Amino acid sequence: MERTMIKLYDTKLRRKVDFVPLNEGKVGMYVCGPTVYNRIHIGNARTFISFDTIRRYLMWRGYDVTFVQNVTDVDDKIIKRANEEGRTAAEVAAEYTARFIDDMHAAGVKDPDIRPKATEEIEAMQELIQELIDGGHAYAVDGDVYFAVRSYDAYGQLSGRNIDEMEGGHRELRADGQGLEDRKRDPLDFALWKAAKPGEPSWPSPWGEGRPGWHIECSAMSHKYLGLPFDIHGGGSDLVFPHHENERAQSEAAYGCTFANHWMHSGMLQINQEKMSKSLGNFMLLHEVLETTRPAALRMLMLQTHYRSPLDFSEDRLAEADAALTRIENAVKNLDWLLETAVDGEAALDGAALAARTQAAREGFGIAMDDDFNAPAALGEIFAFVGEVNAAVADRTLSASDVEAVSAARDAIVELMDVLGIAVAEEAAGSAYPVEVVALAAEIAGYAGTDAAEAVDALLVARTAARKEKNWAVADGVRDGLKALGLVVEDTPQGPRVSVVA
Ligand code: AMP
Ligand code: ZN
Repeated sequence: MERTMIKLYDTKLRRKVDFVPLNEGKVGMYVCGPTVYNRIHIGNARTFISFDTIRRYLMWRGYDVTFVQNVTDVDDKIIKRANEEGRTAAEVAAEYTARFIDDMHAAGVKDPDIRPKATEEIEAMQELIQELIDGGHAYAVDGDVYFAVRSYDAYGQLSGRNIDEMEGGHRELRADGQGLEDRKRDPLDFALWKAAKPGEPSWPSPWGEGRPGWHIECSAMSHKYLGLPFDIHGGGSDLVFPHHENERAQSEAAYGCTFANHWMHSGMLQINQEKMSKSLGNFMLLHEVLETTRPAALRMLMLQTHYRSPLDFSEDRLAEADAALTRIENAVKNLDWLLETAVDGEAALDGAALAARTQAAREGFGIAMDDDFNAPAALGEIFAFVGEVNAAVADRTLSASDVEAVSAARDAIVELMDVLGIAVAEEAAGSAYPVEVVALAAEIAGYAGTDAAEAVDALLVARTAARKEKNWAVADGVRDGLKALGLVVEDTPQGPRVSVVA
């Protein structure tokens, strides 16, 4: 695919900018991964799906994308969970890392090119911490190491905060000689390395046994796997401050160059206008939602809102997204059917007009996505195109000479949906018929197998035979039975066919 000028909204600059990769044709992308102490919820999934879509689009545009995503596998929450369950932190982290990967696969998110784990990158983090100490940007106190925020002038730029306002009520250091705050030279400083407490996982270091802070891991890994600067750093908007502000401070202070060339953040998924989060308890786990919803419908729902806007989740919206997806699938199935049953004869369609419309749909899709990955607008293009193709082929038999233009239109729908991460042709084949058709076919048509598609065929054969014999009870029984399962029978010049009601 030809490369065009993509505009993206850069969080740091607070405006859309032209995306010019640092190395022509290549994109280095880092998106913060999960802390693995629990299964992920659909809010987390929204962020990962958003960046998966952005990545897929860049790839479609011909960029060679290197996508890095870390796994935070040592952290207070993991340790807490391990203690509660009488397991080691490593066991808890290993379990939820595996579940996270399962969940991402189930949601149709591509694997990152590199998925570093914090516990396997301790050396890189220690090197970076040492660099910061040597440069006067960090200091060790009693086994902890802190980043000296005021040693980095640009602190606050990413999140648009003023360092003096940030300090606020923290000016007083605690006087009891105990807390973390006392060890810091400035209340704004944050931990790069934490001295080990009894029973916690720890690693030897020049500053004593301990474990890394959270922010340092992304700075170390992005440097190691992408090199600085790299093109795009992403994550949910809740990570802008302090996580990304701190990552940037660490990296730029240590290496003296730009960290990420662009910052991108996705909006929060909400329930009743409140951010979905584990701490609020209003979360729905992804794998539970996927027990009753096909992943493509959830993705469709996510795509219908721009990645930067808040997304209000509801079961109703999910059902609507499923129906919208079914409309596209039905169009593809219809075109497949027409293509399979084409007959000899003069062109019945205006092939040149359809080819031009197909090209316009591709362009419209690209224009929408080039504008800060506007997937809802891109979907709008696909829907408009599907509507026009449906109208062009309605009530027609295809002639052999129409096949090329129709098949290009069909392929465009499939390809563009694929860029958005939805495999429509497979969805259409796999999810078309509910399993209950098997029982219906057993009852009416004596079908003895277990395959839903075969069962539908058996029902149609029985219906055709019944109609020949004017056995309306059986013929209507097939139609009504299918209707009750959300399927409609249509009679076409090529014979009867069944489609899912959108
Ligand atoms: P965490 O494991 O909490 O670090 O979160 C992993 C990713 O999910 C981060 O990129 C967060 O920004 C993102 N995230 C957390 N909650 C939500 C939400 N409600 N909507 C969208 N993204 C979220
Ligand atoms: Zn990070």
